[in-house]
Amino acid sequence: MSKKRIKIGVLGFGGLGQAAARVLAPKQSVIHVAAADQQGYIYQPEGINVNEAIAVYQQQGSVGYLQPQGVLSEQSIQDLIKCADVDGYFLALPNLPNTFMVEVARQFISLGWRGVLVDALKRTSALAQMLELQEDLQKAGITYLTGCGATPGLLTAAAVLAAQSYAEIHQVKITFGVGIANWEAYRATIREDIAHLPGYNLEIAKNMTDAEVEALLEKTNGILTLENMEHADDLMLELAGICPRERVTVGGVVDTRNPKKPLSTNVQVTGRTFEGKISTHTFTLGDETSMAANVCGPAFGYLKAGKALHNRGIYGIFTAAEVMPQYVN
Ligand code: NAD
Repeated sequence: MSKKRIKIGVLGFGGLGQAAARVLAPKQSVIHVAAADQQGYIYQPEGINVNEAIAVYQQQGSVGYLQPQGVLSEQSIQDLIKCADVDGYFLALPNLPNTFMVEVARQFISLGWRGVLVDALKRTSALAQMLELQEDLQKAGITYLTGCGATPGLLTAAAVLAAQSYAEIHQVKITFGVGIANWEAYRATIREDIAHLPGYNLEIAKNMTDAEVEALLEKTNGILTLENMEHADDLMLELAGICPRERVTVGGVVDTRNPKKPLSTNVQVTGRTFEGKISTHTFTLGDETSMAANVCGPAFGYLKAGKALHNRGIYGIFTAAEVMPQYVN
């Protein structure tokens, strides 16, 4: 007997949103039925044709131009939530300003929507705001999984696994390498990364014109080097009881002109075993895996886990450090 496919929507159709559509296309247990961007949305209960959707978005700037079902709208998220039959959404949206994702979550609640939501939020302060929605999400019948990208996400969950060998965890050190061919493919990601540089913040990065971003990247040869970032891995690991947040550090290098990773993404977890030995576990991602693969894969793995919780009547908010992702076939 074949099980019902999980109906998935993707909000945001930029770099991650399009990659998400590509990840979903060959899957059997899920079906991608809805997508929204800033100017429009598409709902196709029989499944979105990913190549068509990406071509229209790239040529015309919105999936709303996709005929015959595309709709242009200035409130695409709200309109889509109201009309579409979707089990779970991946929020591949920019979090600019830092309150945007929380506002989107509130929109789902106020529209009386029920189902599973997954985000790939990055900042500690953004995730902390999201956690405050715990009671509202529970009452609304929404199972919300937050921080479910690569970092936070895959690497935070790997740190939880690695920690099991230790009686005390001394340090969790996340170092990422990202290589993308051009920054325009991931505008929000790059703007949010720039906001971590000394002398910048989210407000400045949000208001930078594309020309200003390009001028900055010109000066750095396309490379962004990020240290001691405000990343929610710290809060998630603290809440999961792994270690105080001060022991978690995140940094990395982003090359915006070369798809080859500038360094291997890894998480190192150092601790003391019950016998008193100090040791370090290292989990390193394969260099051939892209940022998109390492964000979208886990996001849908957590969406599937969220669906299983939702089916059992378990609502509210969970972080990627609390729940094991399931594998989406
Ligand atoms: P992008 O700029 O390429 O695309 C953003 C998309 O959102 C666009 O399609 C845009 O039209 C749409 N959008 C913007 N405002 C909207 C609105 N009000 N309503 C509907 N759609 C709207 O973004 P990206 O580079 O794909 O990044 C998306 C997010 O993913 C960022 O916040 C980034 O920080 C996050 N991210 C997380 C991780 C992780 O490991 N956790 C890694 C990479 C990126």
